[in-house]
Amino acid sequence: MAQQYSNLSSKSTSERSVNTDRRRVITGIGTLAATGWLPFSAMGQNKVSESEILIIGGGMAGAATAFHLAQHGRSVTILERGEIASEASGQNMGGLGGPGWGNMPDLQSYLTMGSLEIFKQLQIDMGYDMEFRQSGSLTGIHTEEQYDFIKNRVLSQKSNGYDVELLTPQEARAIEPEISLDLLGYMHLPGGRGQADPVKSTQAFAHAAQNSGATINTGQNVTAIHIHGNSGYSVRTDKAEFICQTLVLATGAWCGPVGKLLGLNIPIIPIRGQMWATKSLPPRIFQTISSAESTFAWSRDNGSDETTPPYLTHKGKRRLVRHLYGRQRKNGEIIFGGDREDVGFSTTPDPMGIEVNRQHASEVVPVVANHPAVRTWAGSMPFSLDGSPIIGKIPDRDNLFIVSGLASSGFGRGPMAGKLAADYIHTGHMPHVLAESDPARCVTEAE
Ligand SMILES: Cc1cc2nc3c(=O)[nH]c(=O)nc-3n(C[C@H](O)[C@H](O)[C@H](O)COP(=O)(O)OP(=O)(O)OC[C@H]3O[C@@H](n4cnc5c(N)ncnc54)[C@H](O)[C@@H]3O)c2cc1C
Repeated sequence: MAQQYSNLSSKSTSERSVNTDRRRVITGIGTLAATGWLPFSAMGQNKVSESEILIIGGGMAGAATAFHLAQHGRSVTILERGEIASEASGQNMGGLGGPGWGNMPDLQSYLTMGSLEIFKQLQIDMGYDMEFRQSGSLTGIHTEEQYDFIKNRVLSQKSNGYDVELLTPQEARAIEPEISLDLLGYMHLPGGRGQADPVKSTQAFAHAAQNSGATINTGQNVTAIHIHGNSGYSVRTDKAEFICQTLVLATGAWCGPVGKLLGLNIPIIPIRGQMWATKSLPPRIFQTISSAESTFAWSRDNGSDETTPPYLTHKGKRRLVRHLYGRQRKNGEIIFGGDREDVGFSTTPDPMGIEVNRQHASEVVPVVANHPAVRTWAGSMPFSLDGSPIIGKIPDRDNLFIVSGLASSGFGRGPMAGKLAADYIHTGHMPHVLAESDPARCVTEAE
């Protein structure tokens, strides 16, 4: 799959007519399109290429935006400096979904549950193997205080139409055989939670975009951006120049530095997330597993200030709280993670944090204690300073959009974020649900 993709991804930016022809060719191919086969040609040095819409960033946000724009019939090109899914979108735990749509769906319900539907569409209707499944989730409750907090939360969520329940340890053990009987209980989300493989999924969105006519250009590090003509942009990479009418920033944790190329302050802070994996083991964990410890602590104090986003596990080097999420992959590895630290763009895992997380995981799933971490990894997550996504049009700039700030859940929320951004760009009207994520609240001109 990776090899097949890298062949595809080195193809050149195409003129709109070529995109249109390709769309015509693939119409009706159905699941054959999911094999990803399309011809390609190499990107020439110093070539100037035109595309109606350029997206910088080939993570889930960029790939999903490209897919939906291409589905609208728009000429769209992704510029990615590495490979598709080479940063956070390929390094995450693969958890997705939420408690449901509720009685009054808000942005969070759209992003989580809308994305769940799009994952289903690609996996089931379009035939991409993303290892997607609707697994459900269990959140372990360690203390009396956490129990009261979660009990109230479950009651309030149920009355608002969400699909969530509180289980005794025995009830939880009946559906998840390795779960601890020593905790006080578990919050269970039966239907709304799912899992998928991060790399396969992000690549599937890029393939689906490509199969709908988008062009994917990897190995293109964007180094300069200028206004072109009346309202378009010229984007320079280390290899070539690209001209577009509409520009979309989907550069995840790198929105700050890329924003600077446009003279903008984009308040997105890179936050390191890290994970570890056991060796491959026979299937024994079926749902997504987490702990109520952090949710409870952040409900008291989310830790944010003028320079610190909310919901981090550390302030400086000091640990504020333990956070936990994990699952068993299709290849048998049990993977867990949780720490969220402001350490700049460092992606070197911290072994002490991994050990704390292993201990936390074994309190919820005791069998984990028998299996050491055989590999660890880390990635940079795009946290906005106020904790909300930044999706929409950049104020006072023509044809400039951003899809980011998806923080610790941009894999699961990225598909719908991309769809909403694509709908906005295509129609010229902001979907009402994006009012909450309007960049106008926080993106400013650099002094
Ligand atoms: C350890 C870990 C666990 C996580 N677990 C989960 C989880 O279980 N569920 C969940 O939903 N989310 C999870 N997340 C968060 C999720 O991975 C991110 O929110 C999401 O991937 C962000 O997607 P993105 O497309 O915005 O950014 P990215 O995937 O980082 O993509 C941005 C892309 O922009 C490219 N780029 C940057 N600058 C330039 C440039 N100058 N020129 C060209 N290209 C450029 C980068 O190379 C990169 O590929 C986790 C993250 C980590 C690190």
